[in-house]
Amino acid sequence: VKDCIDTGWVSSAGAYVDRFEQDLAVCCEVKHAVAVVNGTAALHVSLLLAGVESGDEVLLPALTFVATGNAVAYCSAIPHFVDCEQATLGVSADALEQYLNEIATLDGGVCRNRGTGRIIRSLIVMHTFGHPSDLPGLARVCEKYNLVLIEDAAEALGSRYGDRHVGSHGLLSALSFNGNKIMTTGGGGAILTDDAVLAERAKHLTTTAKLKHPWRFDHDLIGFNYRLPNINAALGCAQLEQLPAFLEAKRNLAARYRERIASIDGVTFFVEQPFVRSNYWLNVILVDGDMTQRDTLIGAFHESGLLVRPVWTLLNRLPMYMDCPCAPLPVAERLEQQIISLPSGVTLGG
Ligand SMILES: *Cc1c(COP(=O)(O)O)cnc(C)c1O
Repeated sequence: VKDCIDTGWVSSAGAYVDRFEQDLAVCCEVKHAVAVVNGTAALHVSLLLAGVESGDEVLLPALTFVATGNAVAYCSAIPHFVDCEQATLGVSADALEQYLNEIATLDGGVCRNRGTGRIIRSLIVMHTFGHPSDLPGLARVCEKYNLVLIEDAAEALGSRYGDRHVGSHGLLSALSFNGNKIMTTGGGGAILTDDAVLAERAKHLTTTAKLKHPWRFDHDLIGFNYRLPNINAALGCAQLEQLPAFLEAKRNLAARYRERIASIDGVTFFVEQPFVRSNYWLNVILVDGDMTQRDTLIGAFHESGLLVRPVWTLLNRLPMYMDCPCAPLPVAERLEQQIISLPSGVTLGG
């Protein structure tokens, strides 16, 4: 970071972006990483590269941060919300398959919503709080219905499904390095892919689609100014060096929460599945009871100075997404009433 400032290479050009991208690709075990200005931009461009077009539907969990839905809307596509499962907090492969069996048809290899007549182009899975979704199960459903699998891995840097880092199962994946994530570049994000052509197009689209030339300003598409500044990339290089320590601290903290919370009636600490390794980005408890009891408990926490939070309001209930297509959400609706997130900063796990 000091090198950036000393040399003046703080902005849109410089060597740290390339280095950060290479370090990230190694860390996430993918062939290519393209650094961008934030995780939302990474999702937006991933969707465009997946072929999502105006008027298409994109499946995504109702239980996610609003950015997942916003990225779909930026493509003039229609978010179509689906349920999650208790075991992973991510999209349920079984519920999804059953739902698609009911509402979708394969029409010349294209998945179509029978009710709306629109093409269902893609599924975004989100690794909730860093806990990997059921990637093999969801990949199988995507294959059956010819959907492009995209991973919103914004919360899951360092998480593994089996022996693979998350973010390498979808055609494209998005990471975020916002200040609240496991590591930060101030603000930032990345697109991950194993496909060299997609990586090249991601770079092009996120850097105003300028054609390489020593002096001319020629652009061949409506591109975006989504590049990550060099100084943020330098922060990213430094943060990535510390990621193993951050992961250890997160997992230590989770183990301590788990042990202390085990004996409390009516409260369950959420733990990873046996075949994954979560980064435990955000520790959460599930409380028995309804929304009123949840809010009473949160109020009591706040009075004692512990700034716990509820989970996000389900996206299908936000005003701008209220009229979007939506599967039955029995599990997400229950989880929304139950989840409280706990203080989870890495300094607590040191
Ligand atoms: C943080 C986050 C994003 C967006 O990342 P930004 O860098 O804040 O734009 C997207 N999806 C999920 C699930 C997130 O947690």
